[in-house]
Formats: sequence, C-alpha cells, structure tokens
Amino acid sequence: MELKYDVLIVGLGPAGSSLAYLLSGTGLNVAGIDMVDWDKVWGKPCGDAIGEHHFEETGIPKPTGKEVKQRVNGILVYSPSEKYYYRVRGPGYIINRNEVGKRIIRDAMNKGVEVHLKTRARKPIIENGKLVGVEAVGPNGDKIVYKAKVVVDATGNTMSLRLKLPKEWPVNEPLKPVDANIAYREIREMEYEIEEPDYIRIYVNQDIAPGGYWWFFPEGRTSANIGLGVQGGRGYPNPMIIFKEKLDKRDDVRRYKKVYDASGSIVPTRRPANTLVWNNFIGIGDNAFTVNPVHGGGMGYAMYAAFNASKAIKEAFERGDFSAKGLWYANIGYMRTLGAKQASLDIFRMFLQIMSNDDIEFGLKNRIMREEDMYETSVTGDLKADLGILDKLSVVLKTLGRPSLLMRLRTVGKYMSQAKSLYKKYPESPDGLDKWVAEVESLYSTYKKELGITW
Ligand SMILES: Cc1cc2nc3c(=O)[nH]c(=O)nc-3n(C[C@H](O)[C@H](O)[C@H](O)COP(=O)(O)OP(=O)(O)OC[C@H]3O[C@@H](n4cnc5c(N)ncnc54)[C@H](O)[C@@H]3O)c2cc1C
Repeated sequence: MELKYDVLIVGLGPAGSSLAYLLSGTGLNVAGIDMVDWDKVWGKPCGDAIGEHHFEETGIPKPTGKEVKQRVNGILVYSPSEKYYYRVRGPGYIINRNEVGKRIIRDAMNKGVEVHLKTRARKPIIENGKLVGVEAVGPNGDKIVYKAKVVVDATGNTMSLRLKLPKEWPVNEPLKPVDANIAYREIREMEYEIEEPDYIRIYVNQDIAPGGYWWFFPEGRTSANIGLGVQGGRGYPNPMIIFKEKLDKRDDVRRYKKVYDASGSIVPTRRPANTLVWNNFIGIGDNAFTVNPVHGGGMGYAMYAAFNASKAIKEAFERGDFSAKGLWYANIGYMRTLGAKQASLDIFRMFLQIMSNDDIEFGLKNRIMREEDMYETSVTGDLKADLGILDKLSVVLKTLGRPSLLMRLRTVGKYMSQAKSLYKKYPESPDGLDKWVAEVESLYSTYKKELGITW
C-alpha cells in the first residue's frame, strides 16, 4: 500500500505529537505514525517532571485533571551529604504522560491529522539522492510506503530514520555514549506520608549517580517516581543495580508497599545536533538531542523543537521549498534561543561530571551560587557566577582555600558565554553550516582540554 501526505511525522512522543498538534488545522495533509498502541503512547520511562513555561512558550494546552499527578512549586537540590540544599522555585507538574499524550494526539486528529498506531518505520526511502518517504510495517505486518514532501524523525533515541540517512548528510550525527545518561526509575507507592509533595528532590552525589544525579519526585503524598541517571561510556555500573544496591538501602526509598512500574532508558545530555534539518527532513526531540544537558529534561525541549519545526514547515509550504534552506527556520528558531541555552549548559554539564563530591559539597555549603541564580542558570543557561560575578569579593572570599575551584569556575563561566554567543550566531543558511560546526567543535575541544577532560 502506498499513501501520500504533505508531512509525515514518525514517532508520536512529546516531540512528534506536539508537532502533529501544531500542524493540525493548517490545511496541510499530515500523518503521524507510531509503533505503539494507545496504552503505550508517550510510554518512554521518565521522571515525568515538566516546567509550566514550556506549555506557555509553545501554545500546547497545559495538563489538567487526571493528566496531573502532582502540581510542582519547585526543586530541592541536595549536596552529597544532604546537609545542604538549594530551594529553587518554579512552577511545573509531574504528569501522567500517557494521558497527556493521548489528549494531544486526539486533539490533532480532531483537527485533521491522520494517525496510524502499531505502525513501525523501517527505513527512509531515498530516490535519486532525495528523501521521499518512509517504508513502514503496519499492524498486520503489511508493508506500507508513506510518501511525503517533509519527513519528520521524532522517534526518540532509537533515531530510526536519522542514522539511516546517507552518511554525508550532516543530520546523520551519532550520539556519543559519554554525551548521554543511562537512567532507571521506579514508581512506588510508599508506606509513609511524603512531606512537601509539591517540591521535587534532586540529589547530586557522584558516589551514587556518577556523572548524573538521583531523584525523588513525589506523586501526591503516598507515591513517588524515584530514579537515577549515570553518564554513559565511562564504565559506571548499571543504574538499576545502583538503585538496588544503594538507593534501596535508604529509609525513604526502601519503605514502599508496591512498585507500579520499573524501567529505564537513555537520554541525550548534550548540546543540540548540529542541524535539525536537511533536504525534506526534520529531526526533533531526543533524536536531535533537544534535551537539557544538566537535568536531562527533554519533554519541554521536544515541544519547543516541534514549535519551531511547525513554523518552518508552514513557511516551506508557502514557498514550495522543502530543501534544507527552505526548512532552515527550524534551526534558527531553536538554536538561537533554547539551543544557545542548551549549548551553554552542555559546558556546565561536563564541569559537573568531573567535580568531586567534596567540591560539590563545598559549593552548596558556601552557596557560591545563589538560589535565584540557580533558577536563572537552569532557565536561561547563563552562569551568573560567570567572570564578572566571580570577581566579586564575596565569591572570591567564599572560594578562599579552593583557588583551583575558583579558577575552574571562571573557565566554565567564560566558555558558557562563548558557547551561548556562538549558538546565537547560528548560520543564516545551510551554506554557513560547515564553518560554524568547525568553530563549535574547536570551542568544546579547547574547553575540554583546559579542564583536563579526556573523554
Ligand atoms: C529515566 C528517565 C527519566 C526522565 N525524566 C524526565 C523528566 O522528568 N522530565 C523530562 O522532561 N524529561 C525526562 N526524561 C527525558 C524524556 O523522557 C525525553 O526527553 C522525551 O520523552 C523525548 O521525547 P521524544 O518525543 O523525542 O521521544 P520519545 O518519548 O522516546 O518518543 C518517541 C516515540 O517514537 C516511537 N518510535 C520509535 N521508533 C519508532 C519507529 N521505528 N517507528 C514508529 N515509531 C517509533 C516510540 O514508540 C515513541 O512513541 C527522562 C528520560 C529517562 C530515560
């Protein structure tokens, strides 16, 4: 069977379903396919935490009713000893992903998007050097050929299409294991009442979660999403084993009645892919690494990448140009805003991954960064403790006895702002891509050398 559309979206997780929603009702002939059925929609294991601002920025309706497991008012970030913590305020939710996903997809369908579930994309179809569609397998094992002017890969970290595109296309960019976290989580009904369920908890501790963190996200007073992520490619133990051997020894984790769900997956924790688009192709979400590199939150970033992709697609159809140039706005809209923040947080992420527990403890104890700055850093990607601020006497005094930490913080602040400026100057068209990528690679490799990072 052969089907023809203007736009084919492969994968209906946060990225693909948001795009389907944003393109619905525009007059474009759009189809979305996913290999899972309704009960597994948005089914990737997750901490389920998302900031409210992502819905406001993209126009995707906020979760309500049974879609919300817990209203969140902020985050508590704990030092390794747990004696010190930051209280970072900011509204958000712990969502029921399946309910939110089903609603977004149904809304898109009600406004004309065709959705085919239990349909797995096998490979892209390239004809005369051009991407023209996707070969898929339908619910009965039947082969379906989807033809479309624009094909969107929103398949998450399976990267089902992107990595099958010709090697010389710059979108074919693999994810290095060290630039990802391997994460595992359990949703548990606890035996005790959880205090302050509207504050999610993040524990930074290299002995428990090397190169990542472990979390405790309350879902009401009696249940919690508990998990951890560890940096990939470094030979660290499997996070499920760490969960059983270390977290399950803690009173607040061990005292549970029931496990509702236990599973793990991979999450990219780096700057965005160099380009989200090429001729007739757009990649959004985990497959294009649109994720916050520090906390690994990718749902809101996926929605924002979809938001920019929807604008680019509408423009491309107005002009009848589906080349990389015609779709380029998806890059500009993303890279110069959230992408710039992501790039700068990628610098910070690498620094955090090489910090010792001792330095982390020292930083939180002495409040090198203020709580407001922490929020600012997480929302904008600006390290407030950058050059200017670090020269302030108070910070210098706070880091007395730790001159090497002060020096490294200065380096980090400097490179964070350089990375951000580079992404704000993302090239105007595909012609400038190679030169820009060379500058980005040089910046990150110089930074890594300066900090002694060898991976
Ligand atoms: C343990 C863990 C905890 C996390 N916690 C958080 C958190 O608290 N907050 C947050 O914002 N993010 C969190 N993340 C990250 C977040 O889950 C992802 O960034 C987000 O789901 C990415 O959305 P996506 O649409 O790109 O990909 P996915 O959610 O992976 O969706 C991809 C979709 O594509 C479909 N698909 C894949 N291959 C094919 C194919 N060949 N054919 C058809 N369909 C296909 C899949 O079935 C799926 O529906 C966490 C990740 C992990 C692993």
